Parts: sequence; structure tokens; C-alpha cells
Amino acid sequence: MTHTVIETPAPVLLPIAGTDAKFPVRRVYCIGRNYAAHAVEMGHDPDREPPFFFQKNPNNLDSTGDFPYPKHSSDVHHEAELAVMLKAGGDDIPIDKALEHVYGYALSLDMTRRDLQGAQKKMGRPWEIGKAFERSAPVGPIHTVDSVGHPDQGRIELKVNKKVTQEGDLNQMIWKVPEMISYLSEYFTLEAGDVILAGTPAGVGPVQRGDVMEMSVDGLGSMTVNVT
Ligand code: MN
Repeated sequence: MTHTVIETPAPVLLPIAGTDAKFPVRRVYCIGRNYAAHAVEMGHDPDREPPFFFQKNPNNLDSTGDFPYPKHSSDVHHEAELAVMLKAGGDDIPIDKALEHVYGYALSLDMTRRDLQGAQKKMGRPWEIGKAFERSAPVGPIHTVDSVGHPDQGRIELKVNKKVTQEGDLNQMIWKVPEMISYLSEYFTLEAGDVILAGTPAGVGPVQRGDVMEMSVDGLGSMTVNVT
């Protein structure tokens, strides 16, 4: 047993639907502007430029069902996203082998301090302060590939206080799940435990304390997250 000089940080463990077993998280990659209509609403050309990614921290993932409104922002936005959990990794994974690396899928929210992100963008600075804050990625239970296959079409929706704010279809993703895995593996060594947030459809917008977010994806059920 290795002696550590401080207490070893707790592993980040996510729930899996239908079992008490947990999924341990290694890294979290998030793609930007992966639905054309969302790219347009953010002021960008939806043409298929190379994808770009940013990262959240593993312990930003949160499956408690609560989202504490973060400090230092008055414009916190929801971004409903499909999350992809990897059971294997590698370098330079071919697109046609990429799905073999997927363990399962979950609902997730890429919560964003939009005002802080916008200020960073203007200055050409990194986005972490807007994206990678505490509990910034609510996530639902993981559905295994064995139980749901590889969802590549179907409605993705977010309601805030029962009103639909975001809606789209997984088939509108500019970069598909196998392409994202392959692309990431050209730049990073992927490993089991890595998580990819697959981008958000149009309709992002602000939430306030007391709001209730309900996200659903066809075939993956729904999750409710309370803004506290
Ligand atoms: Mn996002």
C-alpha cells in the first residue's frame, strides 16, 4: 500500500442505471458548437469547421439532482448534452472502430457562466472560469450500450419550469460520436473512464435559483435538476 502525504482525493463515481456498480471518471472532454442551429445562435458559421474541445474536471460531474447557482455570475446558462462514457481508449482510433470503445450514454448539462465565458472569449483567453466550475455538469445515470445500443437519432429536449427551451435531434450533431472519439484520440490518449459531452442543440438560455430543469433524450429517459 503506497503511503500518500495527504489524503488521496476521492474517485469520481457515476451511477449506472439498474445496478449498484459505479462508473469511475478519468477525464471530461466537451465539444463546442456541435449543432448547426446552436452555432448560429452563438454568432458562428455552422459550416463544418474542424471540431474544438474544452475540458471540465471529473469532479465537476454531479449526479445529486441539484445544481447550486454558482458565484460570480448573473447569467448562468443550461446546455443539454448527450454524454458518452468510454470503457477503453487508445491513440488514433479509426472512426469505424470508435464505438467499440463506448461503455454507455447518459444525459448531462454543460452548465455555463455565460457572462464570464463571454469576457474570456473577447480577450482570447481560456474558458475554464466559465465552464469548469464546481458542480457545473449535472449528469444522469449511465445507460449501457448493452441496454440502449448507440443512440444516434432521437429527440433531445430541455424544459425549464415545464416550458421547452431546448430541442433538437441527435441526428443534427455536426460531428458524430465515432468522429469525436477518433478526432480526440489523434490529440490525446483516450482511456477507460473518459467522458465526452457531445454538444448542445439550440435554445440555450439562463436559469435562476428555484428553476427546475427537466432533460430528456429518446431512449435514455429523463432527469430532473433543481437550481438551488
Ligand atoms: Mn456545451
